[in-house]
Amino acid sequence: MGRIKILPDQVANKIAAGEVVERPASVVKELLENSLDAGSTDLRIEVEAGGRRLIRIVDDGCGMLRDDSLLAFERHATSKLRDVKDLLSIATLGFRGEALPSIASVSRLLLETRSQEETTGARIEIAGGKMLRCEEAALGGGTAITVRDLFYNVPARKKFLRTEPTELAHIASLVTHYSLAHPDKTFQLTSGPTELLYVTPVATLKERVYQVFGSQALEDLVELGQREKEMFLPPDPDDNRPTRLFRLNGFFSRPQVQKGNRNSIYIFVNGRLIRDRLVMHALTSAYHNLMPPAAYPFALLFLECDAEEVDVNVHPSKTEVRFRHGSFMHDFVRDSIRERLMEARPAPSFAASPRTSPAAQAAAELPYSEFSQMLENEAPPVSELPAEAPSAEMPRFELRPAAGPAPRLDFTAPPIEVTPGPPPSGKLQRRLDAHGEFPADALPAPEFSLSVLSELRPLGQIHESFIIAAGRDGLWIIDQHVAHERILFEQVMKQRAAGRVEMQQLLMPMIVQLTAEQQIDYARIADELHAAGFETEPFGNRTIAIKSAPAAVGAADLEKILFEILEIAETELRGASLDDLRRNICASIACRAAIKINVRLDTAKMEWLLRALAQTDCPMSCPHGRPIAMHYSTREILKAFHRI
Ligand code: ADP
Ligand code: MG
Repeated sequence: MGRIKILPDQVANKIAAGEVVERPASVVKELLENSLDAGSTDLRIEVEAGGRRLIRIVDDGCGMLRDDSLLAFERHATSKLRDVKDLLSIATLGFRGEALPSIASVSRLLLETRSQEETTGARIEIAGGKMLRCEEAALGGGTAITVRDLFYNVPARKKFLRTEPTELAHIASLVTHYSLAHPDKTFQLTSGPTELLYVTPVATLKERVYQVFGSQALEDLVELGQREKEMFLPPDPDDNRPTRLFRLNGFFSRPQVQKGNRNSIYIFVNGRLIRDRLVMHALTSAYHNLMPPAAYPFALLFLECDAEEVDVNVHPSKTEVRFRHGSFMHDFVRDSIRERLMEARPAPSFAASPRTSPAAQAAAELPYSEFSQMLENEAPPVSELPAEAPSAEMPRFELRPAAGPAPRLDFTAPPIEVTPGPPPSGKLQRRLDAHGEFPADALPAPEFSLSVLSELRPLGQIHESFIIAAGRDGLWIIDQHVAHERILFEQVMKQRAAGRVEMQQLLMPMIVQLTAEQQIDYARIADELHAAGFETEPFGNRTIAIKSAPAAVGAADLEKILFEILEIAETELRGASLDDLRRNICASIACRAAIKINVRLDTAKMEWLLRALAQTDCPMSCPHGRPIAMHYSTREILKAFHRI
C-alpha cells in the first residue's frame, strides 16, 4: 500500500469533508474498510454494548511501519492517494486520511500493528485525541485496533446514540454485508459471549449467501450470475480506451418476497457499500408489473466498473457516489435484473413449515442498515417494526387479499437480544453453526420449471374464485382473476409491441365527459391510447367520443377503464417513462377484461386457463405484482402430516 504521507493542501481541499464518526457502525465501517484495503483475509470484530464501550478489529493485513503508525493519526494522512490526479480513479475504499484521527479524537484508542517488513511493531494509545503512549512492541503481523468508550468526551453526541441493540444491529448489518462482498475472506463478529457471524472462505457468492442466510434464503433468491455490458465512448484523442466495461453480479428475491421498505437492498459499487437512488430506481423498475409499487425486493447487487466511471468523492461518509454515465449504468442494471427475473419465472409456495434446514446466522437476522435507513427516514426504527417471522401455522386464506403474500425472509426482524457481557473467556458460545461446507443438496430444485403448470389437473374451485389443481409435485391454488389478467396482459403487450392491437368498432360511438384535468392528460396520451386500441376523437368542449376499443374489453367497462388510464397518466407521466405508461395501460386493459372472482368455471375453462398461464413469460405474479399461484409441495404435505 506504500508509505503514509500527509496530503498536500491542493489535494486535501478537493476532498468532500465531513463527519466520519457519527455512530458506532461508522467506526466499524471505517476500520473494516482499512483492513480490507490492507489486503486482509481474516477479519475479527468484537463489539460490546452496541459499540459504545468497545469495538475491536483484528486483521491479518499488511500492517503499518512503526514510523507510519503515528503519522496515521494526522489529518489527511493516507497511503492511498498521492496527488489530485489519483482522486479521479480511486481503487481503495479509503482515501481521505480522516478516519483514524477522527475516531481517536472521540474515544480511547489502542493501535497495535506490525508491518510484514519489520520484525517489531508499534503500540500506540490515544485518548480524546491526546497521545498517551507510543512504544515498540513484539507483535504478530497485521493490525488490531481497539476503540473504547466512544464519545466519552463528547456527551452531546452520546445522547444521539440509539439503544444498544439498535446500534449493534447496524454493526451486524454492516459486517454481514461486507462479508457477502468478500466470500474469499473470514469474518467473525462477536458481541460479548455471543457469536453473531462466523464465515470462512468459500469459492462463490452463492456459498457465502448460504453461509450467512441459510438454505431458505437461496430458495427465495435468484442469482444473477456475471453480466457484462460494454459502453462505447465517442472518439477522444486523449483517451485510447474507447470502451468501458460494466459488470453486475448478485442476488435478488423472487417477486413474491416483498418488503415494506428498502432496508433489504444492498448495493456495492466496486466493493464499496453505497446508497444510490439511480441504482435503486433501476432495481425497482426491473420489478415493474411484478411487484406492487409500495413493495421492495431483497437485493444484493455488486456493480463493477472502471474507477474513472464513478466519483466516490462526493459524500462526507463516502456512502454516495456519482456515475459518469448514469443512464447507461441504470439501463444495464434494470435490464440485467429484469431478464433474469423473467428467466427464473418465480413460483411461490407456502411458508407453512418452520425452517428445518440451516437457518440464518444471528447477524443476518438483524441486517438493518443505516445506509438504507437514511433513505427511509420516515420509517420507524427497526425495534418498532412488527416482527414478520414466518408463521408456523398452516396457511389460511382470505378472499381477495389486499397485499402480496407474507414475506418469507425475515430480513427485517427486530434486533435479537444480546446481553452485554465480559469479553469471551475461553470458548465462545456459538449461537448458530457456521453452516460449514456447502452441501450440494441444500440448493433449491434447479430453477423449478413452470412447465409443470401445463400439466396441472384442475380439481375444482373454492369460493368460485380459486382453482385447486393437482400437479406432479403437490397441490396448487390459482387465483383465477389474476391468472387471466397475466395472460391478457402479456397478450396485449405483445400486440402493442407489434403494433397490431385487436380492436372492435363500437356500434354507436360512446360519448365521455372529461374534467379539465382529464382533458389535459387525454391530449398528452391520445396517441398512446390509440396505439393501445382506443380510437377516440374530441367531441366538443371537454368531451370525447370513443369509436373503437380494445377487443378484450366489454362496452360496459369502457368508461371506467378510460378514467383509470387517465388517472395513471396523471401520476405516471410526471416521473415515469413512456414505457411504464404503456405497461400500465396494458395492465388496466387486462384487469378489466379478465374473468372476475366469484365466477363458476367448468373444467374445460379451468384447463384452458392453466395451459394459457403456463405459456406466459411470468406466470407467477399479476401485472400489479400480486401472486397468481401458490404451490404446496408433496414434501410440505408429507411434513404437515408428520410422514417425514
Ligand atoms: P484512509 O483510509 O482514508 O487512508 P485512515 O485514517 O482510515 O485513512 O487511515 C490512515 C492510514 O492508516 C491508511 O491510509 C493506512 O495506510 C493506514 N491504516 C489504517 N488502518 C490500517 C490497517 N488495518 N492496516 C494497515 N494499514 C492501516
Ligand atoms: Mg480508512
